[in-house]
Amino acid sequence: MLKLRDHLYIDGKWTAPAGREQIDVVNPATEELLGRIPSGTPEDVDLAVRAARAALEAWAETPLDRRAALLAAIQAGLAARQDEIATLISMEVGTPLKIAQRVQAGLPVADIGSIVDLAAGLSLQEIVGNSTIYREPKGVVACITPWNYPLHQVVSKVAPALLAGCTVVLKPSEVAPLTAFLLAEVAEAADLPPGVFNLVTGYGADVGEALATHPEVDMVSFTGSTTAGKRVATLAAQDVKRVALELGGKSASVILDDADLQKAVRATVNSCFLNAGQTCNALTRMLVPADLYEEAARIAIDTANSFTLGDPLAAETKLGPLVSALQRERVRSLIRSGIDEGATLLLGGDEAPADLAKGFFVKPTVFGRVTPRMQIAQTEIFGPVLCIMTYQSEDEAVSIANGTHYGLAGAVWSNDLARATRVAKRMKAGQVDINGARFNLLAPFGGWKQSGLGRELGRYGLEEFFEIKSIQT
Ligand code: NAD
Repeated sequence: MLKLRDHLYIDGKWTAPAGREQIDVVNPATEELLGRIPSGTPEDVDLAVRAARAALEAWAETPLDRRAALLAAIQAGLAARQDEIATLISMEVGTPLKIAQRVQAGLPVADIGSIVDLAAGLSLQEIVGNSTIYREPKGVVACITPWNYPLHQVVSKVAPALLAGCTVVLKPSEVAPLTAFLLAEVAEAADLPPGVFNLVTGYGADVGEALATHPEVDMVSFTGSTTAGKRVATLAAQDVKRVALELGGKSASVILDDADLQKAVRATVNSCFLNAGQTCNALTRMLVPADLYEEAARIAIDTANSFTLGDPLAAETKLGPLVSALQRERVRSLIRSGIDEGATLLLGGDEAPADLAKGFFVKPTVFGRVTPRMQIAQTEIFGPVLCIMTYQSEDEAVSIANGTHYGLAGAVWSNDLARATRVAKRMKAGQVDINGARFNLLAPFGGWKQSGLGRELGRYGLEEFFEIKSIQT
């Protein structure tokens, strides 16, 4: 059944958009129409921002524990609809259902829970000498989000912004917007005061840019590509808005010579291919000691071969399609560039999989003997493509790991924790995992260099939404 959405959520009401244009949402596995959403305009943005501005003072004065309780109600509302969320995202993004249940639907519920829990230990004022330092809400926040983990990326911004006392206008990705409507329904059912959370869907160039330039927006919290992030930051700089940017990555998995090679390679491939490689912190460059290359390549091929391509809703599927025809073409052309530049194609390639006539599928692809200057070693591919690179010394491994414009994440593998920690500390990245350590929702997430500005999640993520004032007595 088609998911037809023809209203925006503004000032606590489902509101008809100013324009008539709509955007098609396509199921990437079948190439069929999945739904339609309003293509919002600057007029819609203006209405939503004014509503957020009007609601700000009362929301900022609402006691912290009340704001936390409302967020907990939203968390419960999302938890109750978890199966629906998983299926919806599986259909709009192509994430295999089993993974969608855990990551696409489970993670957002856990995200909000972790933010609610922060409220108890949060101090909004502090004494420094003769000053009292106050943390006050930053104001009206525009949240602009991508499609790859659509609800997780939305709640990673919206929940801390609301807890901090900010009001929000959300513009989700036009490619995977459907769960944002569900969030608005849940917020409405939780009795969030009108204007505190608003939803305007549409394209980046229309709605996104109208938000970034609106004089009544105090902060833009953006997750997406580095190219669009730079544009948003440039626009927002015109009136010195605060900008938080969560951008792309090209993260390295540094496997040291004393690591458990089997475990390290398998985990790196699994990270690289999660969500068909459409994960910002995916480990897409696997760095191995030169004399372990053959063995590492064999394990990587073996692991990649276990990624069964197919219908995301089928139980046996481990690799779904890419999100769109455009994304598939980008990835195919990068695969071709790898071949042209002389990397060794060990598995996969740019041709469509023989047995899948429909859907934006790309075969699990592994390149060996990738060298640092190749385009596939420098550009974020955002598809199921692993690059294996070799190094001679620990110094060279660190230099290759740090040798891109990105700095979002990384991994180090070694049987010697002190050695792994030493290498991890030399990596210019926001998060580095040692020996496959699990994801920590309370740890700050974000990028160095062109991977971003600011942090998301946990206490550090919450801090982004406060303005600081000191009063001297
Ligand atoms: P994108 O940059 O194309 O779009 C992201 C959002 O920005 C969308 O809502 C889009 O409509 C909007 N947008 C686009 N152009 C805009 C403009 N000029 N002004 C305002 N808004 C604009 O990215 P995408 O293709 O949706 O997502 C994939 C990218 O996101 C990848 O680069 C990935 O690494 C990155 N990402 C980063 C993180 C992180 O936490 N660092 C997380 C997920 C995804």
